[in-house]
Amino acid sequence: MWGIIATWSMSLDSIKNVSQKLSFNETAADMVVSAVKQIEDFPFYKSVGYGGLPNEEQEVELDASYMDGDTLSIGAIGAVKDFANPVLIAKSLSQRKVNNFLVGTGAEKYASINGFQRKNMLTKRAKAFYEKRIKQEAEEIKPYAGHDTVGMVCLDAMGSMSSATSTSGLFMKKAGRVGDSPIPGSGFYVDSQVGGASATGLGEDIMKGCLSYEIVRLMKEGKSPQIACDQAVFQLDKQLRERQLVAGDISVVAMNKKGGWGCATNIKDFSFVIATAANPKPVVYVANESDGHTKIEPASSKWLQEYFATRGMQANDCLKG
Ligand code: ASP
Repeated sequence: MWGIIATWSMSLDSIKNVSQKLSFNETAADMVVSAVKQIEDFPFYKSVGYGGLPNEEQEVELDASYMDGDTLSIGAIGAVKDFANPVLIAKSLSQRKVNNFLVGTGAEKYASINGFQRKNMLTKRAKAFYEKRIKQEAEEIKPYAGHDTVGMVCLDAMGSMSSATSTSGLFMKKAGRVGDSPIPGSGFYVDSQVGGASATGLGEDIMKGCLSYEIVRLMKEGKSPQIACDQAVFQLDKQLRERQLVAGDISVVAMNKKGGWGCATNIKDFSFVIATAANPKPVVYVANESDGHTKIEPASSKWLQEYFATRGMQANDCLKG
């Protein structure tokens, strides 16, 4: 059995590429990083890698993580500028005995010494979004509509699991702000003997529930990935509403060691992508909350057509400069 699950429909192309390789016994460790790297390289996603939206000082600061579910090794970086592939730096850090989580200039120094590709990650298009936004009245910082951290959990045919995340975080965040995505147990967690989970949404609230670890903990107790996701997300959502009146956007995906999967969300139309040995053709699903559970449906062809048409339009805009 192999399987891979990823947040947001933007993962579709990269999951297509790696799922074929997973069926030929490529490792979860390599495939999850390869899939996230492809998304980092694609310039038209506004919240991952190249093309990600900047912080309030117009600088693109990136967070990423990698976890190996066999050894429980973790590598992560936070608030890193000017490197093409944060996920590769995170994976490299996971292979060290100590100094696994580096931020800011320290992480950049590590990346530079170790030969990772430098790149100005601010595109003309991201700059245009920034300029438009600063003309608007100052608002409270919140995830812009369609915020999309990529988070993936992968199981390979040998039974090993890995996870990875990558994001530019919240548009107009403070310089140095780090969300849940590189925080072990919050944005991601994976244990090959149990399963893994990854989150996207308002990092400040996701961290309050150590959400990805909580889902893996529930799976370890014997819960299915779907029940674990629903329980963890809706309990956290309820607690946040009771204690701070409002809960931020929270969405998760999870997979267990048998390739069973689940997803939960407190937002409208959260999309995710899944491919498994049983159903190797990647499918985009759309999830919505329904009475304390998550209703999951395959994305309709109209939904997918609109998604790809918009992406094509964005590509054209960008090429025009
Ligand atoms: N969780 C990310 C963060 O807070 C943002 C997102 O997933 O959209 O940085």
